[in-house]
Amino acid sequence: MNGESSDMAFIWRFVRGNAVYIWENSEVRRRLSWYYAVMRDERPARFLICRRIAAPVRDLKGLALEELWRIHDELASEFWKVLRLVEKGEVKLEELEEAEVSFLDVKIELAYRMLKSCIFCERRCGVDRTAGKTGSCRVDHRTRVSSWFHHVGEEAPLVPSGTIFYSGCNFHCVFCQNHDISQENIEEGDVVDAVTLARIQRILRREGARNINHVGGDPTPNLHTILESLKYLDVNVPQLWNSNLYCSLEAMKLLREVIDIWLPDFKYGSDECACRLSKVDNYFEIVSRNHRIAAESGDMIIRHLVLPNHLECCTKKVLKWIAENCSRALVNIMGQYRPEYIVARRPELYPDVARRPSGKEMSEAFDYAQRLGLVYEPVS
Ligand code: SF4
Repeated sequence: MNGESSDMAFIWRFVRGNAVYIWENSEVRRRLSWYYAVMRDERPARFLICRRIAAPVRDLKGLALEELWRIHDELASEFWKVLRLVEKGEVKLEELEEAEVSFLDVKIELAYRMLKSCIFCERRCGVDRTAGKTGSCRVDHRTRVSSWFHHVGEEAPLVPSGTIFYSGCNFHCVFCQNHDISQENIEEGDVVDAVTLARIQRILRREGARNINHVGGDPTPNLHTILESLKYLDVNVPQLWNSNLYCSLEAMKLLREVIDIWLPDFKYGSDECACRLSKVDNYFEIVSRNHRIAAESGDMIIRHLVLPNHLECCTKKVLKWIAENCSRALVNIMGQYRPEYIVARRPELYPDVARRPSGKEMSEAFDYAQRLGLVYEPVS
């Protein structure tokens, strides 16, 4: 980057193969400072701190929902105070007492209560998933993992990324590149419980993952299992939430203190486009709200996938919003869109997105980012 570091969101072209050298960029290190410290095992991941914040009661199951949330919010205040001390190196994890019933336990209990009338995402289906019912995502109480491996195709600061692909998604994008696991064969993944999920994360970390990348489909329908797995995870590793970020406010509250780095996808600047192409309502208000919460709570890389013919309605609006609201975020403007799934099968239904974005459209997206004052530096 030329000149002084700035608190404008930082745009860079993602170039593969620079996972080592990316950390020589002081701006990337500054903006991902917490993630960097946890990745290098210099600080404990947030979930480990959550486990050391003691809940004031032992019997969480006997508490009313409102009381559980009240306790949650009190413990959250305590968490942020402790986190600041840990960040500064004034307190070490070992100096904090192990909690018999912890802040993390409160989060897990709340997630399982939410599962009974599911409000994990803003579709708010209200179905009892513990009874095997399913909502729009078609995921019941069981968590299915389609695959897990060290992903080397993610953004440079993340690779190798210990990526866990969950089956199912709360979006129904007509161009989904992962439609086999998100929409069509969601029953084919391996059912995993929390202990198994922790074991997967342990293996990924021990074999060199820089982070645990919860993705899918979308990880949101599996919030309960993911949170519970952190109770059993015995290695220090950054937790990464790779999501459409259509989570409910309640889900965001559960995630805020356990996610070390956010990797949300901000696609649409228009609710009409979101509704037509991903079948969701009220997209911009919900997703921008959650981006704001994520940006306030931790390190963040925002992805924006450039859709052909959607420069004015989506790309420019999203970039403008990011410039005005997420000053510390790194931003990846992605040009790899290609027509898949329903768009590939019935292009006449979605002619606007039935091709790749052109070079001209990509240049216009980057030029616009520069005009907004977003810092742009090709990393090579
Ligand atoms: S996760 Fe979202 S889509 Fe799935 S059942 Fe819950 S509220 Fe509905």
